[in-house]
Amino acid sequence: MAPRDPAQVLHQVFGYDAFRGDQSEIVEHVSGGGDALVLMPTGGGKSLCYQIPSLVRDGTGVVISPLIALMQDQVDALRAVGVRAGFLNSTQGPQERRDTEAAFLDGELDMLYLAPERLRVPSTVDLLGRGTVALFAIDEAHCVSQWGHDFRPDYLMLSELHQRWPDVPRIALTATATRATHAEIAERLDLTGAKHFVASFDRPNIQYRIVPKAEPRRQLLDLLRAEHAGDAGIVYCLSRRSVEQTAEFLTAQGITALPYHAGLEAPVRAANQARFLREDGIVMVATIAFGMGIDKPDVRFVAHLDLPKSVEGYYQETGRAGRDGLPSTAWLAYGLGDVVQQRKMIDDSEGDLAHRRRLSQHLDAMLALCETVECRRVNLLAYFGQAGAEACGNCDTCLTPPQTWDGTVAAQKVLSTVWRLKKERNQSFGAGQIVDILVGKQTPKITQHRHEELSVFGVGTELRDVEWRTVIRQLLARELLTVGGAYQTLSLTESSGEVLRGDREVALRRDPERPARASRNRSAAATVALPAAAAEVFERLRAWRGAAAKEQGVPAYVIFHDATLREIATGAPTSLAELGQVNGVGEAKLARYGEQILETLAAGPA
Ligand code: ADP
Ligand code: ZN
Repeated sequence: MAPRDPAQVLHQVFGYDAFRGDQSEIVEHVSGGGDALVLMPTGGGKSLCYQIPSLVRDGTGVVISPLIALMQDQVDALRAVGVRAGFLNSTQGPQERRDTEAAFLDGELDMLYLAPERLRVPSTVDLLGRGTVALFAIDEAHCVSQWGHDFRPDYLMLSELHQRWPDVPRIALTATATRATHAEIAERLDLTGAKHFVASFDRPNIQYRIVPKAEPRRQLLDLLRAEHAGDAGIVYCLSRRSVEQTAEFLTAQGITALPYHAGLEAPVRAANQARFLREDGIVMVATIAFGMGIDKPDVRFVAHLDLPKSVEGYYQETGRAGRDGLPSTAWLAYGLGDVVQQRKMIDDSEGDLAHRRRLSQHLDAMLALCETVECRRVNLLAYFGQAGAEACGNCDTCLTPPQTWDGTVAAQKVLSTVWRLKKERNQSFGAGQIVDILVGKQTPKITQHRHEELSVFGVGTELRDVEWRTVIRQLLARELLTVGGAYQTLSLTESSGEVLRGDREVALRRDPERPARASRNRSAAATVALPAAAAEVFERLRAWRGAAAKEQGVPAYVIFHDATLREIATGAPTSLAELGQVNGVGEAKLARYGEQILETLAAGPA
């Protein structure tokens, strides 16, 4: 490949006009032989940061990635723009491996993707030693962090690359980056001397919404019907069972939904993932086993039916929405049951006290995000060390500011009920019984325990059942109450006394009656704001793309991204030269698809 100037490569190969954010500086630094540690949110554009230096420098850019299931797609996407790319991993046959190795040794590969475990094999290291390595890119670098949820022992060996190839630049990249993870990556990969690039973690095109959980599947269905008809998206559930049930429920409602969890046979998982990547408009219902490295650009929504265990997890999962920069939704349904369930999971978890305390801190941060009455984005960014952001105007609390109310008396009623049960009866109960006592409901369980004789029985008729549940949820989130034991019973905490004595006021969040909905009025988000004529052309281009993708057996976005098709639809180019100006249309794709696109445009409505 001839071009050697980064900006020229960006334009000719990838078809983009300009670098984004820190890309230009990173590309220049690494192309010049410097080491880099790059922290950039999902969708920020990390790939170009090592792809372009690989093309600019002599030799082959070696990319270490744990995501072997996705290497084929990554390589296909590069070949589609004319980059000579290959991979070595356990999924390929001996002949294919030999061909890739030979191409590398002959200097005929611009990029080589490697699974980290390959480096354990001496022959791989040997092979790299006999060719020319332009750079090492370490993708998903947080996998080196032992405390993180994605730890891969093989990543620990990557610090040795530096000893063996001291002159070859290394670039480590991740989208997961609290301060602690950042420091750990730098240390373990021996990158303390590298230049660190920390991008803003904001994802302005994602609208964050956290709603009170009532009938979660029904609420999800309403969201999909009202705002995401025909869109691709991911629905996260905590358990395999709930994944299966939710996928069945959506399917029964006429939505193309597929399940994904670790309990499914590997071929089924692979087939479902492939369909999600290749076909338009599929909803993947999954546990968190799904998603790392999924770089499908047009995921329009990520929905959580259960509370994520940490803000890191939540941000990484929601970050899979809207990589293409178009408006997308991150939606979470959350309720009292989630808090109870997660506290129980922490109680039951293996590991020492320090480990459980850590899990607890993660949960507390997540709960604080759920219960905040301020901008969700400000809260998220502060968590990732970006303090002082302005209210975003594109999250539920900005769009429909929640009211707060003085919940001190309500809190006292709950706490004193818990206290009396303990003191007068030596009993403890779960949230359901406490609510029944407060509202004075005569149930068999009330009669059985003679709870109608308690002085607090019926003292809380000013609130409805659901409202008492939100009060209890918020008391749990603030650790004014705690839940535990085999029956998930409530008990007081060290701080409860302050409220009971009247030394502490409790401001509570009033859940909106009708949860916020996007202010934008849209049907399928992919056609946001396109005038009718352009929308028709866009759909025509999408149909053409679908057919081409199917014929080649590659994901549709490998041909062109939605954003590129939208630009073609609005700009209506009439010549190859004009078409070549569109973002995302590089030389290879122009040569390959240019005529077909112009014909599709000229054909007019079907
Ligand atoms: P990340 O790996 O950080 O999640 P990607 O490298 O997949 O992000 O890039 C996200 C999207 O942005 C991709 O669709 C990519 O083609 C696009 N992109 C990246 N850099 C640019 C740029 N300079 N101009 C236009 N589009 C870009
Ligand atoms: Zn906001």
